Amino acid sequence: MKKKKHIQPFAYDLGEDDQKRERHKARMLRESQWWKRRLAKGVCHYCGRPFPPKDLTMDHIVPISRGGQSTKGNVAPCCKECNNAKKQLLPMEWEQYLQQFNEEG
Ligand SMILES: [Zn+2]
Repeated sequence: MKKKKHIQPFAYDLGEDDQKRERHKARMLRESQWWKRRLAKGVCHYCGRPFPPKDLTMDHIVPISRGGQSTKGNVAPCCKECNNAKKQLLPMEWEQYLQQFNEEG
């Protein structure tokens, strides 16, 4: 049997250069007034709870590694708890995690 090539599980057709470009765009977006205004609202996009702006990070709703872009429509302020949950949970578990906040209103 031939040895299989090593393939990254979630990197669709996105090359390393593309990902680098999106990360660079994310840095630019982070410097923008638009982003600073989003942060100043102090609300996590996912759980809707209030946080001091310094506790919010920029999250890509669709991660760059899965083809997401650094556009205003795909980035959102995110608290540390949601950020960790998003990284660690499976997509289905993440949906359930989000639902608990919807149910609470
Ligand atoms: Zn949150």
